[in-house]
Amino acid sequence: MQQNSPVKDQFGRVLKDLRISVIDKCNLRCTYCMPKEIFGEDYVFLPEEELLRFEEITRLARSFASLGVEKIRITGGEPLMRRDLDQLIAELINIPGIKDIALTTNGILLPKKAKKLKEAGLKRVNISLDAIEDDVFKQINGKGVVTLPVLKGIQAAQAAGLQVKINMVVKKGMNESQILPMARHFKNTDVILRFIEFMDVGNHNGWDLNNVISKQQIIDRINAEMPIEAAEENYYGEVASRYRYKDGGGEIGVISSVTDSFCGTCTRIRLSADGKLYTCLFASEGFDIRSKIRNHISDEELTDALSKLWGRRNDRYSDERSEKKHNNRRKIEMSYIGG
Ligand code: SAM
Ligand code: SF4
Ligand code: SF4
Repeated sequence: MQQNSPVKDQFGRVLKDLRISVIDKCNLRCTYCMPKEIFGEDYVFLPEEELLRFEEITRLARSFASLGVEKIRITGGEPLMRRDLDQLIAELINIPGIKDIALTTNGILLPKKAKKLKEAGLKRVNISLDAIEDDVFKQINGKGVVTLPVLKGIQAAQAAGLQVKINMVVKKGMNESQILPMARHFKNTDVILRFIEFMDVGNHNGWDLNNVISKQQIIDRINAEMPIEAAEENYYGEVASRYRYKDGGGEIGVISSVTDSFCGTCTRIRLSADGKLYTCLFASEGFDIRSKIRNHISDEELTDALSKLWGRRNDRYSDERSEKKHNNRRKIEMSYIGG
């Protein structure tokens, strides 16, 4: 497929990253993401035939790559619950223009799958872990799972040669007690720990600004015990602010989409498991691309549709939140779109 000129949205932002949710199911029920009271036994997940097939995902990714996408992140639900995910990764990695593929997972299935993923060409994984103490983690994940399976997942990923970052969502009253224990646990290891401010995604997690522990509060707490200093950005639009331990014990990151929003450099588009495209994590409406590709749209028409969608984009939800411009519209769920 030929390379088109990079597309720009209404604010001149280029399209660089594609996040693909491959499944809406998950083996955990984190209270802030898929609370078990709502995602219970009788919750109806997407049926198999509604999920995009691998060849459909690959076709879309190829079209996106021709418009300038260079990075792909696979997410979910829990992406490792999608059968044969390694085959999809092997296909995506071969697309001309795609320079980087990453995966976000809760890590529980990594002992079974890390080796195959690495063989398929995956280089790095982000593993979500919100606490290092079992009692706290069991409460958060809604399934009473202890940390050991996740820690084994981290080990398996490292043993397979995958680079590992840990994502920890910090929410007041849930796990702020874990900020220092988590930092201590991952200091002086190859693993970079990234703290994420609790966001107002979805409609079910009872978000309230009072429950957000800010980036500043997180770094102050760590700095008081383990001195850190700001480190430079790795690349344009990097979402995490980086800090390094002054004693050489490695680095941490903080993702502050609430207190320090970064819409101005947002180059991301999201594809849901059932083939809807979202130009913002906080969107209400998706663009149904599955029906178009199942109705035999040509490659040119597909690229044109994607290009026009990005060209119309004017999302800047987090910036507007800071400007207090929001109404209480319905938003897509994080477990559906994958972060
Ligand atoms: N199941 C996988 C996992 O947990 O890594 C992938 C999907 S999960 C939705 C992706 C990331 O979104 C996780 O790191 C999770 O902690 C984060 N997340 C979910 N809800 C969030 C919220 N309200 N605020 C901030 N991060 C959130
Ligand atoms: Fe599942 Fe990830 Fe959401 Fe937790 S954060 S419920 S592991 S999708
Ligand atoms: Fe991008 Fe929307 Fe997040 Fe802003 S709020 S950084 S536009 S996904």
